[in-house]
Amino acid sequence: MIQINENYKKLQASYLFVEIAKRVAEFQKKNPDKSIIKMGIGDVTKPLPEACLKAFHDGVDEMAGEASFKGYGPEKGYEFLRQAIAENDFHSRGVSITANDIFVSDGAKCDTGNFQELFSNSSRVAIPDPVYPVYVDTNVMAGRSGVAKGSRYEGFQYMEGSEANGFVPGPEGVEADLIYLCYPNNPTGAVATKEQLQKWVDYALKNKALILFDAAYEAFITDPEIPHSIFEIPGAEKVAVEFRSYSKTAGFTGTRCAYTVIPASCVVWDAEGNEYSLQNLWNRRHSTKFNGVSYPVQKAAAAIYTEEGKAQVKELIDYYMNNASIILKKMKEAGFSCTGGVNSPYIWVNTGRDSWETFDMILNKAAVVLTPGSGFGQCGEGYIRISAFNSLENVEKAMDRITKALKS
Ligand SMILES: *Cc1c(COP(=O)(O)O)cnc(C)c1O
Repeated sequence: MIQINENYKKLQASYLFVEIAKRVAEFQKKNPDKSIIKMGIGDVTKPLPEACLKAFHDGVDEMAGEASFKGYGPEKGYEFLRQAIAENDFHSRGVSITANDIFVSDGAKCDTGNFQELFSNSSRVAIPDPVYPVYVDTNVMAGRSGVAKGSRYEGFQYMEGSEANGFVPGPEGVEADLIYLCYPNNPTGAVATKEQLQKWVDYALKNKALILFDAAYEAFITDPEIPHSIFEIPGAEKVAVEFRSYSKTAGFTGTRCAYTVIPASCVVWDAEGNEYSLQNLWNRRHSTKFNGVSYPVQKAAAAIYTEEGKAQVKELIDYYMNNASIILKKMKEAGFSCTGGVNSPYIWVNTGRDSWETFDMILNKAAVVLTPGSGFGQCGEGYIRISAFNSLENVEKAMDRITKALKS
């Protein structure tokens, strides 16, 4: 008899987007003439930058020629892309990450989800609340949690975000070996300062812990004081891994390309206290279970680092950030306290009432779909997430409708 991994039985059904879809469908059925605006999605809406498209097409054409055809590529990614990453994303900020420290992949979701398998099941895990659910569910699947109690699992440590800490919880009171951090944050849009990240790096150095730093929204940072990489923090190269993605940066959600950075100086230990290179461990895992990102896609990603590519990506980010500033302004004018929307495409709004109640009210009165904060964890109750990934036209229309609904 083939038996299942019993840990899967502990997983809570992910109700959030299913429940949203259900309520939206019911509303549309009752109001067939209303055009619904979706401000809840965590997906981009604008097409790929021209420079990426051109390189993508060129890559495909190369596959058509006997001489230029490419079969399996290097598992870690082509040198041309890893070199461009090292120079443009790290050396330009004074961070000495090399092409060797970089592993190109098909997504930060897979990488943040898979990385935990390098570690012992006895590792104590610290997870943010509210949270991107991938960090939680993959550790449940691996067997690092107990059973679910409400929206939480026994055995995990939850780092609680609140307005008091600006949704940037510190290491005080945490006793963990594996620590998940995400800045700029999904869903709260909060960003961490150098001082705040330094506290986590110091904690990890002192306790021989490891930080898994998800920087999927790094490109949305505009404040020059906010670090783009955990490796801008002294000591982080010994205790951190960073996940980056082209999904939100350059509209690659459907194209698929991301990368993970593991500095050569980052070490971990076995039960006897012997030291291991984390880069070697991940290399062993990655080259066993992954066969590389397609060549045309890596060509398209490398085009992000050309002069045209940089300008076009900036235009894309500026477009969404203009949306974010409109949303933030309107929500503040409506009297709500908000997080995010400045260095992040998400605006996290304290509605002062139940998340689903707000969701229903805005759907019914304004025909706008938001994301209930409670779907991201118990600390999200009372909040809603508004996404800036939409057309300017839709954002303006949605904000008008919401403002009117709030007054009625
Ligand atoms: C969108 C997102 C990612 C990126 O995932 P991909 O698999 O690269 O598309 C990673 N982390 C967070 C928090 C995200 O919101």
